[in-house]
Amino acid sequence: MADDLLVKGGPLWAGVGLSWSQGAVAVKDGLVTYAGSADGYQPPAPPAKVLDSQGGLILPGLVNGHTHGAMTLFRGLADDLPLEAWLHQHIFPAEAKWVNPEMVELCTLLAAGEMLLSGTTTVCDAYFCMTAAARAYGQVGMRAIVCQGVLDFPAPGVPDPGQKFAVCRDFLEYCQGRWPLVSAGLFAHSCYTCSPATLQETSRLAAEHGVPWFTHLSETVHEIYTMRQRFGADPAQHLANLGILESLKAGVHGVWLDAEEAALLARAGVGIIACQESEMKLASGTCDIPGLLAAGVTVGLGTDGAASNNDLSMIGELGFASRAAKLDTMDPTALSAVQTLDLALTGSARCLGLEGVVGRLAPGFAADLVVLQALAPHLTPMYDPASALVNQCRGADVRHVLVAGRQVVADRQVLTFDLREVMARVRGLARQVAGPGA
Ligand SMILES: [Zn+2]
Repeated sequence: MADDLLVKGGPLWAGVGLSWSQGAVAVKDGLVTYAGSADGYQPPAPPAKVLDSQGGLILPGLVNGHTHGAMTLFRGLADDLPLEAWLHQHIFPAEAKWVNPEMVELCTLLAAGEMLLSGTTTVCDAYFCMTAAARAYGQVGMRAIVCQGVLDFPAPGVPDPGQKFAVCRDFLEYCQGRWPLVSAGLFAHSCYTCSPATLQETSRLAAEHGVPWFTHLSETVHEIYTMRQRFGADPAQHLANLGILESLKAGVHGVWLDAEEAALLARAGVGIIACQESEMKLASGTCDIPGLLAAGVTVGLGTDGAASNNDLSMIGELGFASRAAKLDTMDPTALSAVQTLDLALTGSARCLGLEGVVGRLAPGFAADLVVLQALAPHLTPMYDPASALVNQCRGADVRHVLVAGRQVVADRQVLTFDLREVMARVRGLARQVAGPGA
């Protein structure tokens, strides 16, 4: 039987140890059937369709381990502030006023468009009113784990915190089998905003529904100070004391983990999703990625929300992760380009429970792939694709995107929804957020 599609050209960077100067990726029923040298592709029948990269780099779709998609509305709304003031004086009040299902669907569409156009094909998105976010990703045709947020105080769509788990249950049931590429999860905001009982119930409910759960973990010094004062334990130890650390799929941030906490996470098989650009902007510190890897912790990368990044480009995140590691260790050999790229592919995939599914172009893996432009000064010359991706490429270099073998971006145009209309509507909403006189 003929393949549905052949993506050829190159260079092809298909994963660690898998690269060819002239490559070919064949796709059937949404999966890769062949990834390797162009010469080695010898199908029994010609593929139904061919997409020539015309010299552009072909790579697996990047995996954004953590974002809050709908926060695109608050991009650049309150910058240059400490995290506590940023969150409590600006973001939480803006969320209370503006976040509703219609806003979440619209602003998640914007986030999805931005992510696709910068090379991300899989995302883990945590926020509120998440049935609306699930609808957005379902419409876009992007691979997503959509997580309903859990907090102990009133939140958008959950005015009564006593109802938070009823909302979670409804959400999990709503998502069940509705879209082939969208699955559900839960996201407890953090150990300092969720009581022990809330964290335990989040873990229990996730297990009951067979979905992953996540939390922000060890982001700021303030958090560590609060946890020690309140519970006499750092966040990972706190979760271990509650008997739920091993049920956590991954923690987000991991900036202030000491060696003991890192060892605890490694033993429990819990990953850390580092969001270095956001950590830098909020001056939270940076995640010690080389140290965590050495301790045996799985590390992935995420952008965090657009209000603290302020973009959702995983290609941009590669550069930040690599440079943070080199600067923090004062060692230019720390976190090589290949290692950095692998964090955003197999690292993030493992943190999301999608190992063996995404993050690599090999037979049996999802046909989620990205083709970059070839003819740009900053991509000329390109000796080493991994180095180019980490040190030279921009999100705007993305030209074509496939998710599960379906082309969702062609020549930088999103094919599955009207992104221009979405941008116009978000700009209209942002004028209301900015208020009169803006
Ligand atoms: Zn976050």
